[in-house]
Amino acid sequence: MDNLERIKCQKMADEIADNVALSLGVYEAFCNTPREIFVPVGRYAYDLLAQPIDGSQWISSPLTVAKMTMALEVEGVDKVLEIGCGSGYQAAILSHLAHRVFSVERIASLAASSRVNFESLGLRGVHVRHDDGRSGWSSFAPFDRVLLSCATPEVPKRLFDQLAQGGILVAPIESNGAQNIVKFKKLSATEIVSEVLDECLFVPLLSGTA
Ligand code: SAH
Repeated sequence: MDNLERIKCQKMADEIADNVALSLGVYEAFCNTPREIFVPVGRYAYDLLAQPIDGSQWISSPLTVAKMTMALEVEGVDKVLEIGCGSGYQAAILSHLAHRVFSVERIASLAASSRVNFESLGLRGVHVRHDDGRSGWSSFAPFDRVLLSCATPEVPKRLFDQLAQGGILVAPIESNGAQNIVKFKKLSATEIVSEVLDECLFVPLLSGTA
């Protein structure tokens, strides 16, 4: 990462911090992740806006990435599962905070380009799988944290099954045409509590691969 990239990242992190309460670790993760690598139109990379990426998909606004990341309480945990790797920006942020990030993406071209992005930044803790993320990634379960980066009316049961006891799952939940970030905590195999946080806007969780 060169100096100019670092200055641009820090300016964006400061703007995020004006809107969302950030821990020092999450603030630094934003400062150390050049968003211009992940978006096709580099000119707008540091605006606080969602951006179009390949496959008619969207990389979320940095404000949404910040809210999701803070809700996940991810600093220092071992394994995080993300569903919907897209450009890889959210996974790259998570990789500065957790030991290992496992991200599933249903669109082959996006899974491939996100791997290139991680390699170019030397991020070795992120693993990408081209698959339907509704099945999770069972060989690495249980996960301490699970993040859905696409919206669904209901979290697939298998994702809760792959969440460790005491673990947190954050997802954009769609109901009556609106979406909200919801934070779930798995207290035991049978008891899950949830809390509705902010409004959000994500592309839908789809079935199958492309
Ligand atoms: N976290 C991404 C946001 C990508 S948008 C980023 O930082 O860029 C949501 C992504 O979820 C899209 O790439 C879409 O293809 C993917 N997606 C939707 N349904 C999915 C599924 N069932 N399994 C895996 N990925 C899925």
